Amino acid sequence: MEIKRNILLNPGPSTTTDTVKMAQVVPDICPREKEFGSMMKGLRDDLVKIVHGRTEDYTSVLFCGSGTINIDVCLNSLLPEGKKILVVNNGAYSARAVEICRYYGMPHIDLQMPIDRPADIELVEKTLKENPDIALVHTTHNETGTGVLNPIREIGALAHKYNAVFTVDTTSTYAMRPINVYEENIDFCMASAQKGLMAMTGLSFVIGRTDIIKKSAEYPKRSYYCNLFLQYDFFEKTGEMHFTPPVQTIYSTIQALKEYWAEGEENKWARHTRVFEAIHKGIEELGFKDVIKREWQAGLVVSVIYPDDPNWDFMKVHDYCYERGFTIYPGKISTTNTFRLCALGAIDEQDIEDFFKVFKEALVHYNISIPAIYK
Ligand SMILES: *Cc1c(COP(=O)(O)O)cnc(C)c1O
Repeated sequence: MEIKRNILLNPGPSTTTDTVKMAQVVPDICPREKEFGSMMKGLRDDLVKIVHGRTEDYTSVLFCGSGTINIDVCLNSLLPEGKKILVVNNGAYSARAVEICRYYGMPHIDLQMPIDRPADIELVEKTLKENPDIALVHTTHNETGTGVLNPIREIGALAHKYNAVFTVDTTSTYAMRPINVYEENIDFCMASAQKGLMAMTGLSFVIGRTDIIKKSAEYPKRSYYCNLFLQYDFFEKTGEMHFTPPVQTIYSTIQALKEYWAEGEENKWARHTRVFEAIHKGIEELGFKDVIKREWQAGLVVSVIYPDDPNWDFMKVHDYCYERGFTIYPGKISTTNTFRLCALGAIDEQDIEDFFKVFKEALVHYNISIPAIYK
């Protein structure tokens, strides 16, 4: 079967290999069969190994949903009675964590910081010092809206110094940028199958310290479907997800993991870096500017500023590229008009070179100035 290959430059879901796509086409199976359960055990262990966790210390808990479900699960499940959450907030995904706190009515501090730079760790320490009732610190590793990389190792060390649990949203770095949970002081991290793993949508997972999950059995229960301990406990007792898993996505994720180990952590990160550099080269050649200082970027998302050109029209350029198999994505910064080009997925340098040929054609087609005009 021929499957058209689209190059997705949006921040996930990402371009997948044909072998991952085809892994979904399997004989029908009831996920309550032993055969399916034993597959999930290997999958859960692999997810822990990707971030260099030892399965004696860390476990992974699967959920059926998009990546946001992980943030919901971690925050609502890991806050003891009478304690507070600190969200180190310098972007759209940490702002989402703040909204989750609000929806559950959980006591929290929304520590807002400028979105165009890494979080200020001195401010984090000051806040922790002044609020001894903080039991959980949450932040985002790569703020996908801007591409800023946060100093999670330092934030994690501070969380631990002040006796708080550290949860990090690693959805847009996991299985791309190498992560070691011990070195980065991570108690809980998370991702979904369709980003770094280059599999399908519908499966998300939290990787975290087993001792803390066990302890959380006594914490207030704020959700039924999204409770971390409940889902963990069911896995441990039965080897299965509590409720119906995304069966076909699990098959494709297992194939994606095989391909992950075959490519290797270092090679994969080197490939994403090549793609990222090629994106920078392409925008620079056309005179486009990006928002975030290069040394603050996580190496996976480039936020490009709209040129001040009367003929510039993002949607028209998007449609031109889309019709030719390349997907570009709007930005997520409220104060600046941007679009994003991302280095996720099963793509390489050559795909970016091909993309820029089409992108340049689109600019010429719509009489948009090259080099791009900025006032
Ligand atoms: C993609 C992403 C998520 C999850 O978003 P969904 O729309 O639920 O898939 C969460 N956090 C970060 C940092 C992300 O990049």
